[in-house]
Formats: sequence, C-alpha cells, structure tokens
Amino acid sequence: MGGSPGDRDWGGILTPELIVAGGTVVTSDGKQEMDISVADGQIKAIGPDLIADGARILDATGMLVLPGIIDVHTHLRLPDAEHPDRFRRDTLAAAHGGTTTVLTFNNPGTGISAEAGRSLLAGLDEFQVRTAGESPIDFGLSAVISGHQASPIGELPALIAAGVPTFKAFMVYDFRLPDEDLEQAMRTAARHGGMLQVHCEEPAIIDPLVADALRMGQTGCRFHALTRPSRAEGVATRKAIEMARRAEAPLYIVHLSCEEALEAVAEAKARGEPIHAETCPHYLALTDALYADPDEAEVIKRVISPPLRTEADVDALWLGLRDGTLDVVGSDHVPDRLDGEKRIPAPPFPEISNGAPGIETLLSVVYSEGVAKGRIGVARMVEVLASNPARLFGLPSKGAIEVGRDADLVIWDPRPDHLMRQADLHHTSDFTPYEGMRMQGAVREVIIRGRGIGETLGRFLERRLA
Ligand SMILES: [Zn+2]
Repeated sequence: MGGSPGDRDWGGILTPELIVAGGTVVTSDGKQEMDISVADGQIKAIGPDLIADGARILDATGMLVLPGIIDVHTHLRLPDAEHPDRFRRDTLAAAHGGTTTVLTFNNPGTGISAEAGRSLLAGLDEFQVRTAGESPIDFGLSAVISGHQASPIGELPALIAAGVPTFKAFMVYDFRLPDEDLEQAMRTAARHGGMLQVHCEEPAIIDPLVADALRMGQTGCRFHALTRPSRAEGVATRKAIEMARRAEAPLYIVHLSCEEALEAVAEAKARGEPIHAETCPHYLALTDALYADPDEAEVIKRVISPPLRTEADVDALWLGLRDGTLDVVGSDHVPDRLDGEKRIPAPPFPEISNGAPGIETLLSVVYSEGVAKGRIGVARMVEVLASNPARLFGLPSKGAIEVGRDADLVIWDPRPDHLMRQADLHHTSDFTPYEGMRMQGAVREVIIRGRGIGETLGRFLERRLA
C-alpha cells in the first residue's frame, strides 16, 4: 500500500495562484466539498467551481483538505556544532506529517547555552540567532521560565512585548520554579497579556518514591513510571489551578495524561475559569502495559513525564477531547535518540532523558486512533490540532480555512492504511514509540503560505494573545 510518507515529491507548486479543487474542506464547524483559491500566500476565496486564468489546479478529489496542523508543544534541538541540522530536519519532518506551524521550548536539554538559560531575553536573542533560516515551516518560541534564571518574572513584560506571550514553567525537575514564584509569574504574565503553560507533577509525592526505589536497588527503566503515579499529577494540577485562580490568570496545562487531572480541569471549567488543557498523542494511543516489557531497550523508549497511564485513562482522555475538557493535542516532541540522549544500556532511571519523538506522527496518530475509530469527528480533530492552538497561542492568521488566513493546507487522503515504521520517518530520533501500529490515512500534499515545502522559508512568528 502506498501510504508511506517517505516518497513524496514536494516540488512544483510555485505559481502566482493556486486552486485546490474538489476536496472536502474541513473546518471546526464541519466539512463541505469546496474549492479554495490561494494567492499571495493567503486564502482568497472558498466556494464551488472556482476558476482563475493561469492558476495551477491541485486536484483534491476524494481528499480531505485540512488547515495546517499547529503543534504548540515541541522541544526542538537548537543548531550547534554537534547537532547542526536537527532543528531543520525535525521541522521538515513536521511538514511531512502535516504540521505547518510549531511552537518550541528552549528548556535545558535543547542545546540552549548556560548563559542564555539564565535570562529570558538572552534566551530569546539566542533562539532567534540560532534558528534564523533553519526551518521550512513557520515557528515560534514559548520561553521556559526556570529556577535557574536570575529574575525571570521581571523579564516577562519585555518578552511579551517582543512577541513571546507564552511561557512554560515546571513544578518538577531541578530547574522547576518554586511555587511562590510560579503564582507570581502567572499574575505578572496575565497583567501584561501573557499566559503560563505548566508541567504539573508534585515533587513532594514523587521524590520520596524515587528515593525508596533507589534504596531498594530498583533502578530499571520501569521504575520511572512506578514512581510518578497519577496522583502526583492530579494533586499538582489542582494546585496550579488554585494558583491561577488566586492570580486571576489564565492557565494552560501541558501534557495532561490521567483522569484525576482531567477531573480537576473539568471542575475549573465548570466554574468558568480560563483553564485550558492539552494532552498528547502518546497518552491517547499507548498504555502503561508497555512498561511490563522485559526488554529495557523497549521500555526506555516510553520513559516520558508524565508516564503512560492505564486503559481507563486513555478512554477518559478521549471523552475529555470530545466534550471540550481538553482543548489541544500537542506532540511533546523530544528528538531523543537511543544512541544519543537516551543511552543504551540504560542508566539508573532518574538519569534517563525524559521524552519521545512525535513531531511527524501527530496528525497520523490522532486521525487513526480518534477519527478512524469513531472517538472524535474530523471537525473536532481540526479544532484541537489547529483552530484551538491558533486561538490560544496568538496565531490569528492560522488554524482555519477562511478567507484572509494564511494558505497553510494539508491534503489528507483518508483511504490508505499502513504500519508506522521508523524507517519511513524523517525526524532525527532513531525510533518511534508507535512502531508497528496500524495507521489510517496519509498526507498527500502540504502547502505553507500558498507554496510547497522547500519553496518557502519558515518565519519566526511574533504573537499577541487575544
Ligand atoms: Zn514537553
């Protein structure tokens, strides 16, 4: 079956005007067979039987036409001497998977220099210099606020003014932000038009479990998951929501993985609070049964935080996506390699790099596990992968197929199926956590601001929250 994304030819769409004809156009309101005319990088018209002299016609008969996917959660590696091309290759991989815009973090481990890691403004400068001209798709930064920085809260207004209105803070890890600083950061960001994204796990629950495991000599990969129970995420999620309430601030909860945390978000939303939540494809498609594999080289591929959860959590997350408790699916792409950052044979579990790749497989996994299996409709998929990310992250020119928006389009063929294989992927990791899974549908073409991949250079996006 020719569903592999590896053998596409990107060239040939360079034309002053383009008409995408005969496809089923999907928006968050529904789907309809329509033509789309594109000029100057934007959508100019949507309607039946559009014609234009000299325009190139892209026949999308039988295809779904989706807005380009916006992945707001990635940890791309910045270019440096050791990894000169991984930023470019991973953003190209994103495009192969149907993603036309990424937001990335500059947390420790992404190659940010220690000096730039100590200041938000220095971090932004370094990010812009090192990524200039490196991405085929549009991209932006969500800056990481860490306990290693001298005065991150004081720098928030300047970052927001510079077009970086979203910030990630961690409640765990050695670079976490102390609770009192986290609440102050929420307050300051909100007053200046910004929003915090928070990694919710409670170290007061996790740290003693890790210490106990190590004392008993339980150092294997699977103890990573066993020492990070869902309770640690549920408790931290409630705590972060309470902080946001006191700070009168919006809050975006990243990579929500379990039912306990989902309930906390549902309650906050029912109270009318501006709490937004994201889950990730791995929490929707994989379970903690994988941690029982006796092969450490398999288990280490799923050493992520939070860890994979139970089948019941997976079901709860799909319901949460469907009923609006969850707003976004982001990949949490970490381009780790087994022969690089992860290290095989595995070190004791606290030393294992947390993360797994997903930048290229986001749309495939959500379509296959969600739409093809009848758990969400295709319009809802577009909402959580494009429209909501654009709305929540200050990207008004993106996220929907509407006249005047950027012509970022994915031509998606819903018919073919194939097995996911690392060998077919373009990302810079040397594995995929979805190896061997059956996938439904395939990307046929990706258009970024009216052009094919490789015909345009992605730009750094300055953002303002609505
Ligand atoms: Zn992450």
